[in-house]
Amino acid sequence: MAKILITGGAGFIGSRLSKKLLNEGHEILCVDNFYTGQKKNIIELMDDKKFELIRHDITFPLYIEVDQIYNLACPASPIHYQFDPVQTTKVSVHGAINMLGLAKRTKAKILQASTSEVYGDPEQHPQSESYWGRVNPIGPRSCYDEGKRCAETLFFDYRRQHNLDIKVVRIFNTYGPNMCKDDGRVVSNFIVQALRGEDITIYGDGSQTRSFQYIDDLINGMIKMMNTKKDLTGPINLGNPDEFTIKVLAETILKLIPDSKSSIVYKKLPIDDPQKRKPDISLAKEKLGWQPKIKLEDGLIRTINYFREQI
Ligand code: NAD
Ligand code: UDP
Repeated sequence: MAKILITGGAGFIGSRLSKKLLNEGHEILCVDNFYTGQKKNIIELMDDKKFELIRHDITFPLYIEVDQIYNLACPASPIHYQFDPVQTTKVSVHGAINMLGLAKRTKAKILQASTSEVYGDPEQHPQSESYWGRVNPIGPRSCYDEGKRCAETLFFDYRRQHNLDIKVVRIFNTYGPNMCKDDGRVVSNFIVQALRGEDITIYGDGSQTRSFQYIDDLINGMIKMMNTKKDLTGPINLGNPDEFTIKVLAETILKLIPDSKSSIVYKKLPIDDPQKRKPDISLAKEKLGWQPKIKLEDGLIRTINYFREQI
């Protein structure tokens, strides 16, 4: 059984990963500064002797002893990562340097939660790991996109320079229970709006696409990746290749909440909003024997049930 550090452990993905790894018998050190994380995501884990919470900002060094590190700390929703863009770049870059330094000292394996945003507004469709992306370096999304790209660079330089055991996963849009009600990302926004009878806010004309992955599929992929041999570094895409327009997503959520009083309204499309996104997951299938199992409607039903309890 391993001693595992999860940075961003009180966030949406981090809390679900903590629970799963705790259930597998590992010791979990959850590090979070509660920028977007929530105590209620981890409250049920606090009674477990193998779970420890450390309030800490990873832009500052951390001295603990660990076997594995999942580096997830970073706001992931556009409204949150654009609220304090300098801090977003800091957490991506300084945070990565600190966690890589920790991995170097402790000889821990370290996995980076990278993102499909490294592909920017892509010309290649679907996106495979060999595609270098089309990212605006100076726009409002750049703090996140370029921060995550620089973090990948650091991971691979620590590998080349210090022979670290690194793993880089590029996560595509993921949704599910433990997302914040006011997270701002599309799935939680639409579900919360539909449950409250508020307008469903489609940005642009809703023809842009995303490919939505349910949280449990992602967690399985991340753990599989962490447990591979040293020669498999990634980057590797983890996402669900079923692609939907944002308009179809809104209609599907309204269909699944038939008593909703909401109607769809159209708002301005944010700057640099990618037009399409869909992962090529051939590499994950081949190297990890992994592919997502949960269909959009099934995952949405579980997520709707979660938000019904929250509201
Ligand atoms: P989230 O906002 O729910 O979680 C991020 C967590 O990091 C929060 O608990 C937050 O408080 C914490 N955090 C932020 N800055 C910190 C700092 N300086 N020090 C310590 N903790 C800090 O987001 P999420 O969806 O769970 O995303 C987790 C990771 O996965 C992020 O790195 C994100 O970029 C990546 N990712 C997520 C998605 C997705 O669709 N959910 C897609 C691609 C990549
Ligand atoms: N979006 C929307 N309405 C919302 C929130 C988001 O139409 O209330 C759109 C957004 O413009 C983007 C897509 O949904 O085209 C996915 O947005 P999200 O913020 O979830 O993630 P992204 O993939 O853009 O990082």
